[in-house]
Amino acid sequence: MTKTLGYAAQSATTPLDAFRFERREPGPHDVQIEILYCGVCHSDIHTARNEWKGTTYPVVPGHEIVGRVTKVGNEVTAFNVGDLAGVGCMVDSCGTCPDCHEGLEQYCTTGAIFTYNSPDPHTGKMTYGGYSQRIVVDERFVLRVSDKLHLPAVAPLLCAGITTYSPLRQWKVGKGQKVGIVGLGGLGHMGLKFAHALGAYTVLFTTSPGKAADAKRLGADEVVISKNSDEMQCHLNSFDFILNTVAAPHNLDAYLELLKRDATMCLVGAPEDPHPSPNVFNLVFRRRRLAGSLIGGIKETQEMLDFCAEHHIVSDIEMISMQQINEAYERMLRSDVKYRFVIDMASLK
Ligand code: NAP
Ligand code: ZN
Repeated sequence: MTKTLGYAAQSATTPLDAFRFERREPGPHDVQIEILYCGVCHSDIHTARNEWKGTTYPVVPGHEIVGRVTKVGNEVTAFNVGDLAGVGCMVDSCGTCPDCHEGLEQYCTTGAIFTYNSPDPHTGKMTYGGYSQRIVVDERFVLRVSDKLHLPAVAPLLCAGITTYSPLRQWKVGKGQKVGIVGLGGLGHMGLKFAHALGAYTVLFTTSPGKAADAKRLGADEVVISKNSDEMQCHLNSFDFILNTVAAPHNLDAYLELLKRDATMCLVGAPEDPHPSPNVFNLVFRRRRLAGSLIGGIKETQEMLDFCAEHHIVSDIEMISMQQINEAYERMLRSDVKYRFVIDMASLK
């Protein structure tokens, strides 16, 4: 066992603070990673504050992890000590169900083991995430990270990156299509970069007029202020696909009516409270689809990281110290982040 310092929430209402716990010694298939950087996802806030219910305390959030391999088990083949490595939202799954066989471990029939707040079969406790000095993970769930990209800005790819890349690929977004991204936060800014890189005509919907110039710089061909219904009406029946990353309940009809016949809006945002139910007529009259998507499988996550290395795509980040995490949460809740906080783990002492 290795003594490890992390940051944990002890209850839904207490700020995160230092928390000491133990990581297991690497087993034959395990990789031990010294965490260098960890991104701050809105899911960390939902979980720390028990907004999805089901949080077990203490909880150590963090699932956008990059670091350096410090130990490997004797049967590990894909990693050596000294390699860069990444860990995203999952650390294990059954490996035998049809979903796992298809490389869709996030939909594992018996339930994937998530990086934090999942029952940990190794310890009998809960899994503890990336707001910590190190982590031990089965090599099947460790990703290869390019040394050509700015490493802190790679961390958010492990969740914000794959969560937006996966649905854009699933719905075959590409040249000749008009694609909408709703919300310019951590997920939204990655969705924008990917939709643009895949060749789609990309429209960013935001509630924050002050983000319009950034949205253009990040790849938007057009920016729509979603609170302005005249601007919204100009786009009726015109979208091939919309990816909705908003972390709060809102009127889905305002976007559904912008879809063409047979087009899909995919939700990846997971707010605490439900959205008002959409108008069924908005769906049936044009055979439109409302869908959802959960992160992405390990194979696709590696594909996304390789795509990013090839296209020089990283996240736009603001680096913080571990001690600034509670302030960072408050700023995220005010949509005041450009566009992902990343914790410099060297600050955790
Ligand atoms: P974030 O950085 O806080 O971004 C969310 C964005 O939503 C904000 O920047 C804001 O964009 C917009 N927004 C916030 N409140 C709004 C409101 N009341 N009405 C309209 N727009 C609002 O969060 P994130 O880390 O990108 O995560 C977004 C959501 O995705 C969270 O619910 C998170 O838990 C979820 N998530 C899901 C998955 C998955 O696998 N499905 C994975 C990761 C995260 P504008 O200022 O541009 O309007
Ligand atoms: Zn996340």
